[in-house]
Amino acid sequence: MGRVEFRDVEFRYSDASDDSTATLDGVSFVAEPGAHVALVGPSGAGKSTVLSLASRLYEATGGAVLFAGSDVRQVKQHSIIDHVGIVSQETYLFHASIADNLRYAKPDATDEELIEACRAASIHHVIETFEQGYDTIVGERGYRLSGGEKQRIAIARVLLKDPPVLLLDEATSALDTVSERIVQEALDAAANGRTTITIAHRLSTVIGADVIHVVDHGHIVESGSHATLLAEG
Ligand code: ADP
Ligand code: ADP
Repeated sequence: MGRVEFRDVEFRYSDASDDSTATLDGVSFVAEPGAHVALVGPSGAGKSTVLSLASRLYEATGGAVLFAGSDVRQVKQHSIIDHVGIVSQETYLFHASIADNLRYAKPDATDEELIEACRAASIHHVIETFEQGYDTIVGERGYRLSGGEKQRIAIARVLLKDPPVLLLDEATSALDTVSERIVQEALDAAANGRTTITIAHRLSTVIGADVIHVVDHGHIVESGSHATLLAEG
């Protein structure tokens, strides 16, 4: 389930006029199992749309998106939900305890699994600093979690499902530099061994990517490593 392929994908939003250009046109790339693929490019280029197609929020209007060689249109939606973890700028935590937020992803998770996911997301020691630990209510007065702390809880929640594919949509862009670094470390740990597709606003945040695709006006206009793209300017 870890291999993701875009094969000559075209996409038009349903509200787009017939004569307008497609939002994505001829987009092809492969993320091999465990590989880390990054998408960079200007705002409006189509990067988020690529992730929406990879998570099957939308279906391609041309070409195909394949998971482990199968067209996603043939893969059951719940299977996609089980196999794809999404971390975005918005954390979507509930006004509930940290434990309930985490168990939302996996209701039958054991304490050990919970702790392991928190350790992997570097949230364990954060929780220990709160008097009530896992019972701390997210958003409750007196127990304010910082943006970086919330993001790490969101990452731990995703890791509980142990998804083979991770989609990261500018997950650190709302954070200050210090939180950004801590969350980036948690994301790097989460991405280890998983197929990862990352949207980045800066080339510097995707130094570790196996390949970077530059997206512009719905096309992949350039692909390469961080070093080759920098060299080409
Ligand atoms: P990026 O992530 O690179 O900033 P997006 O994928 O968000 O780009 O957007 C690509 C294009 O699709 C933009 O022109 C944007 O306005 C348009 N677009 C994005 N979402 C929608 C939508 N839900 N309906 C119609 N057009 C959209
Ligand atoms: P980060 O630097 O991780 O993005 P934030 O900017 O969200 O953190 O929060 C910085 C500090 O402000 C944290 O200590 C957090 O507890 C506190 N804080 C966050 N949101 C609020 C809020 N709505 N009201 C009061 N304090 C807050």
